[in-house]
Amino acid sequence: MRKFHVFSLMLMLSIFPGKLSLGLPLLLNSALQSQDPCSKSIHYAPLVPEHTPIKTLRIAFHVFTHSSGEDSFSNDPLDILFLENTVDWLNSLLSDLPPLEPQNSPDITSPHIPDSRIRLHLDTIYFWEDDYVHEYFTRDGIVRRAAAHAHKKYVLENPDLNEIQKYNTLHIIISGNHPTTGGQVSGIGDKDFMLFKGWYHAFERGRPAASTGIFIHELGHSMGLRHHYGPRFCRQCNDLGCYELGETNNIMALYPSSLRAMSECQLGIAHYHLNGKSGNIGDVVIYDPCSLDEEATVHVKGGGHHIWNSPRKLPGNLVIHPGTTLTINCRLTMPDQGRIIIHRGGRINVDPGLIENGCGGPWDGMEYR
Ligand SMILES: [Zn+2]
Repeated sequence: MRKFHVFSLMLMLSIFPGKLSLGLPLLLNSALQSQDPCSKSIHYAPLVPEHTPIKTLRIAFHVFTHSSGEDSFSNDPLDILFLENTVDWLNSLLSDLPPLEPQNSPDITSPHIPDSRIRLHLDTIYFWEDDYVHEYFTRDGIVRRAAAHAHKKYVLENPDLNEIQKYNTLHIIISGNHPTTGGQVSGIGDKDFMLFKGWYHAFERGRPAASTGIFIHELGHSMGLRHHYGPRFCRQCNDLGCYELGETNNIMALYPSSLRAMSECQLGIAHYHLNGKSGNIGDVVIYDPCSLDEEATVHVKGGGHHIWNSPRKLPGNLVIHPGTTLTINCRLTMPDQGRIIIHRGGRINVDPGLIENGCGGPWDGMEYR
């Protein structure tokens, strides 16, 4: 026993030689500084919605019809209205996500973030008559090979589509009808395509939620998210617990879950991808840094110290209000002619961050008032 005491004392001395109180915090500090905050996806979650510019994804629907005229949406006002309403419904969900279920679970540590700050813009609805693609899906269910063929033929090799329509658009392939709704994506975090079956069936039965639920799930995959239901698939995030299907309402579960809610970790991963930090889905986010949107001014106010540990692309000006400090640790992209206005008593720190003109020119838009 006495020997053990002597040994443990020697061990402590060898670990903590001398300045114990100074040495340990210094060690922790340098370890933290070596980790780039801009590389952590959790820092991309829109915890303060007004500080996170909305990211709008450009999408296009490709409806594959059959020469018989049966079993698919057609180019008529009612069908087009349904497809447009689907996007509206998705945007209303993305702007008002419900709390994660089961509510009051101690395993759910994520705060409730109602506004995802992600939206969809429907650019075009294409109708392609192609019995092969239509029937392929109908017979064999979801077949990614057929979708890749459709994407190549009707998008990449189509001379009528411009560069933005080809490469800066997420293509939504809607196949022939099928009794159940289902979907797949071209890859995790990938912009090429999402494909769906069974939408027309849902439409005929007046059940749009059947298609929108699976849409938000597949959109999650396209934005870098993986399945989350237990216990096999709960690996990507640990802030939303791990529940069986039907117990959770997370978008990355499957039927019979309701597929509506997202956690802070998941929103961080989605924004990380949409910022172009992983995958290529960031290519479909609409952002024009060469035109200033005066309506989209971001206000940092209310006093205190706000820290931006993720890059931001602002469409408009930035205003720092009195008594409020903003520290920018990552890249801040301003639109051409965009200004940062700092009111008396406000403060901005840009180190090690960086402010750039996204349009390519110089930027000198700092104003003190
Ligand atoms: Zn899935």
